[in-house]
Amino acid sequence: MIRLIRPYISFDEVEQDLRKVFDSGMFTRGENVVGFADELATYTGARHAFLATSATTALWLCLKRLAVGPGDEVIVSDFSFPATANVVEDLGARPVFADVCPDTFNMTPEALKAKITEKTRAVIFVDALGNPSGITKIAEICRENALPLIEDAACALGSSEAGQRCGNIADMTCFSFHPRKLLTTGEGGAVTINNTDWVAWFNRKLSHGGEGMRGYGLDFVDYGYNFRMSETQAVMGRAQLKKLDDIIAERNEIRDAYIQQLASAGFTVQGHGPEVVHNVQSLVFRIPEGCDRDTLITRLREVGIETTLGTYALSATTYYHKRYNDVQPVASRLQDTTLTLPCYADLDVEYVCEQLVGLVTKRK
Ligand SMILES: *Cc1c(COP(=O)(O)O)cnc(C)c1O
Repeated sequence: MIRLIRPYISFDEVEQDLRKVFDSGMFTRGENVVGFADELATYTGARHAFLATSATTALWLCLKRLAVGPGDEVIVSDFSFPATANVVEDLGARPVFADVCPDTFNMTPEALKAKITEKTRAVIFVDALGNPSGITKIAEICRENALPLIEDAACALGSSEAGQRCGNIADMTCFSFHPRKLLTTGEGGAVTINNTDWVAWFNRKLSHGGEGMRGYGLDFVDYGYNFRMSETQAVMGRAQLKKLDDIIAERNEIRDAYIQQLASAGFTVQGHGPEVVHNVQSLVFRIPEGCDRDTLITRLREVGIETTLGTYALSATTYYHKRYNDVQPVASRLQDTTLTLPCYADLDVEYVCEQLVGLVTKRK
């Protein structure tokens, strides 16, 4: 079976550093957590980075920072993973779905402008499958309308637009380190910000509301949560961050090889802007006109190739469709006509392409 993903980490790479953690007995709030956060800030270009338990908790906390609640609207990219809208819904606000560009799969300026109302409190732009195309323009519109911009960069570590890496573009940027992403810590996430006034707030909210010392204990100046990453997770993160740029270059080469072999059969790859570095978190193609995507996935599995859909139209999920009945046409078409292909080194791209092309030509 050709698997869809293969993690970029082996036990050998982290054995020594994990042993140090075990020997020290310090499993939380040690040098690796501090080090990984610093390295993430340096890598993304953001002034401040905080580690969290997942992108979901990170996004949720960013909305809390903006005091989003009942009566508020948050405009979200419609082509994403449900977590993007769930955090808004959980806080009692309304996720307002903005449709996406059929080429880049990202929220368009027109869709955003059309959805701004007096109730809009924030915007969540999603780097669809790691692609940040259009974020700079969206950031400009948000500034003009005095709307805070949160970037759901769960998939986009290492991607950039106009020379700015994700993490250094929006007001707050959230990353995921789930095993489906390029860099994994098992579960895990992060937030980056440039606003120094928010640093103390994030630090204490991530950590029970504690701040500094008071006598022999923490001073609990606020209420808070525990969304902290552990030392063993941070060890994993640090090992992969060092290799990330090489991984991204390699994935772009594999992407090019696929494009060459699939273009003539009518497959078109997710596009990106000229000033964009796409980390190719997921390699997604639109299938040829008239093909049935789910049948294609089944047939590919029969010849030993694991694939999956691109991602979801949030407005068309059972829950959000029932609740708001506001299905976005482009996102829902993409949900049904996109295909994620295996993408990693030593993969037999030729075999995968032969099978794919064979399946869509046989159909005719
Ligand atoms: C993976 C993903 C998430 C959720 O990340 P977790 O770390 O699992 O919470 C959120 N948004 C997008 C766009 C994702 O791809």
